[in-house]
Amino acid sequence: MAAEVRNTKQKQAVYEVLLSLDHPTATEVFDRVHETYPSISRGTVFRVLGAFARDGKIRKLQLSDSDDRYDPRMTAHYHARCRGCGRVYDQFLPDVDRLLSGLSLKGFACDGHELEFFGSCENCKKGDE
Ligand SMILES: [Zn+2]
Ligand SMILES: [Zn+2]
Repeated sequence: MAAEVRNTKQKQAVYEVLLSLDHPTATEVFDRVHETYPSISRGTVFRVLGAFARDGKIRKLQLSDSDDRYDPRMTAHYHARCRGCGRVYDQFLPDVDRLLSGLSLKGFACDGHELEFFGSCENCKKGDE
């Protein structure tokens, strides 16, 4: 029972950290959770993240040139990655949602997709000028 309670607290801590960071990697989540819960292990944090992703509580993002990142925002959106600073920006594109939902793939039952954009964010563009 005690382990159960600790488990719930750890899960909650992981989720709160996810909300406070911007598309963090598992290592970034671990580093932050570890500040508050020094006893938590890297394996536990990684396991909790995996379980959240499987349960559909969060999204696991497999972006190019990056370790897997985690996103607690479950509403439909896409990601734009800055080649300069590596930051990942949320993009809400209802036109793309409409287009993709109307697509049918030949001989394939599709249950998901990823779409990634690359470029420079405002901050990095300014730095170049
Ligand atoms: Zn940038
Ligand atoms: Zn996102």
